[in-house]
Amino acid sequence: MLYDLHCHSNCSDGELAPTDLIARAIDHGVEVLSITDHDTADAYQQLPATQQTLTLIPGIEFSTSWQKIGIHIVGLNIDPTDSTMVAAINLQQSARQRRAETIAQKLEKLGAERPLEGAQAIAGNAGLSRPHFAQYLVESGFCKDYNQAFKKYLGAGKPGDVKQEWACLQDVVDWIRGSGGIAVLAHPHKYKMTRSKLLRLIEDFKSAGGEAMEVLSGKQTPDITQNLQGICEQMGLLASIGSDFHHTQTSWCYLGMHPHLPNACKPVWERF
Ligand code: AMP
Ligand code: MN
Ligand code: MN
Ligand code: MN
Repeated sequence: MLYDLHCHSNCSDGELAPTDLIARAIDHGVEVLSITDHDTADAYQQLPATQQTLTLIPGIEFSTSWQKIGIHIVGLNIDPTDSTMVAAINLQQSARQRRAETIAQKLEKLGAERPLEGAQAIAGNAGLSRPHFAQYLVESGFCKDYNQAFKKYLGAGKPGDVKQEWACLQDVVDWIRGSGGIAVLAHPHKYKMTRSKLLRLIEDFKSAGGEAMEVLSGKQTPDITQNLQGICEQMGLLASIGSDFHHTQTSWCYLGMHPHLPNACKPVWERF
């Protein structure tokens, strides 16, 4: 079975509408897919609950922060219609909007013109994300390219990296579990933590009720996978796998890019 349990639609910062994302996943041979948009489950309102050619696992990617670092927690097999989940999503979306206003103020001070309006026009109905700001900064000529926008203004530790609005780790895990889901620590390698710091994060995540971590996320070198597999085993977590696909143009990341989870791992899907 080919699993891809982490990807984005245009309900958050992805390019494709949910139905197109599913069509593309099927093209790439994915048999079990979870669309995990940032702080929203809107994709599932646009899709029938059952799909003919693949199994859809309702999911979400919640934003939180831990020790002032932005952390993402994926919820798999959630119930998007659960009242606590709906309330939680509303809370995160309000936080996202307030945060976007703060980001915009900071960018304006740095010389960008009308960043809130510009990013909002790009986001359409989706909650405002840093990629929408990045795209606007490029399109308006303020930055030369997307990478520069993140490197100078929006990436970790830069003025546009505003995190204080997000719910805490405990709340996020409670929401996921409360709606019947499994909490998964997303892309641990992306936080660029030392091993000991990552182990402390995982300890806290487990104490909060977290049960799994992504051992494979996007394109990863084998040594990283081996390291994460070791940590996953050591910490007694279930293992998950996902492309974190956003755009059709990024050649390093496509739907269903991972054929197999390392044999030693206990797959999270045993719990679905
Ligand atoms: P937000 O949800 O507003 O915090 O935006 C987070 C999203 O921004 C991530 O899911 C990525 O899609 C994107 N992102 C974060 N950091 C970078 C980066 N350094 N370069 C490109 N995209 C990034
Ligand atoms: Mn994203
Ligand atoms: Mn993420
Ligand atoms: Mn993601």
